[in-house]
Amino acid sequence: MSSIIEKDKQYVANTYARFPLEIVSGKGSYLYTADGKKYIDMGTGIGVSAFGLCDDEWKSAVIDQLNKVQHTSNLYYTSPCADLAELLCKKTGMKKVFFSNSGAESNECAIKVARQYGIENKGQEYTTIITLKNSFHGRTITTLSATGQDVFHAKFKPLTSGFVHATANDLQSVVDLVNSHKVCGILIECVQGEGGVIALDKAFVQGIEKICQENDIIFMVDEVQTGNGRTGELYGYMNYGVSPDVITTAKGLGGGLPIGCCMMNEKTEKVLSFGDHGSTYGGNPVCASGAISVIERLTPEFLANVKQKSQYIFETLNGAKGIESVSGMGLMIGIKTQKDAKTVVGECINRGVVCLTAKDKVRLLPALNIPMEDLKFAIETIKQVCAE
Ligand SMILES: *Cc1c(COP(=O)(O)O)cnc(C)c1O
Repeated sequence: MSSIIEKDKQYVANTYARFPLEIVSGKGSYLYTADGKKYIDMGTGIGVSAFGLCDDEWKSAVIDQLNKVQHTSNLYYTSPCADLAELLCKKTGMKKVFFSNSGAESNECAIKVARQYGIENKGQEYTTIITLKNSFHGRTITTLSATGQDVFHAKFKPLTSGFVHATANDLQSVVDLVNSHKVCGILIECVQGEGGVIALDKAFVQGIEKICQENDIIFMVDEVQTGNGRTGELYGYMNYGVSPDVITTAKGLGGGLPIGCCMMNEKTEKVLSFGDHGSTYGGNPVCASGAISVIERLTPEFLANVKQKSQYIFETLNGAKGIESVSGMGLMIGIKTQKDAKTVVGECINRGVVCLTAKDKVRLLPALNIPMEDLKFAIETIKQVCAE
């Protein structure tokens, strides 16, 4: 075992089951490890490095800002923060953006917006938020409570109260909860990521939007993983023909630096006012500059290319030997394999391809600009490992 791996095991909190790879550098869709090996990166640090590693355009946006000023706090104005907010609003039709540093914090903001809206517009007791079973919304105590998976809850009770969980693609289960609770908001992932890369049905998502409109409930989408081009649209909800009141995102937004945000529409933009929320790092100019370069590159032509790559993956893996099903959308892919998913991922690493898992599936979140030949090599490798 390398000395770095030993040191990490000794001093870093014991919360991660790491793969035995010590990564020292990366370029585009290639990862390089301390022992001099090269790998194709099909995980992008869990959907973060949207344009791959050390991408030149992203890097120069970041370095240019680093040479000006690295941090100011939110007591002052900086152009990257304002420019990024404008860009996001123009591209989504939303009206205001709150910046945070992670996905969980973006969802914390959304939860505050929904509760404050409910209390101010519907009554003191309207604080319940509906999420879905098998969802994932983060690791803070409140976003854990929002997460509809008991495995994450067991050790951390008491959790934040006021969260109830409906069944995905079962609209009646949502209606029942709306009728039995004082609901201020509904929060969903259009494609459940950690839950196994499962896209919700269009009729279900549209049904939720309608229920929200009819009951004056805040319709919130968690786009932490599905956002920023990942599904082949700028945001995942855009595949569903709906208009959320609140959108949260993070992961790919910063292209590798920590930034998240909560976007609000005309219904919710005025809910938060001075002092209601804040973040010391939120909207950091270096992270925001990286994010601007990511969002500016997600043009319709670029996104059409993401969809083509997606189609290639589905066509190549669907029905292949040892593969039971392929799920997901865009470059967010779940593969149900006959072999244990962890075994497949381990064998792919042996052959120079790094993949992720989600529940019992192999999960792929490659760079959105992964070159076709590298994508082909990775997909053929996975196909071969599954077939053996
Ligand atoms: C990753 C993820 C989160 C949590 O994001 P962090 O940056 O780890 O806090 C929340 N929601 C979804 C859908 C995610 O995939």
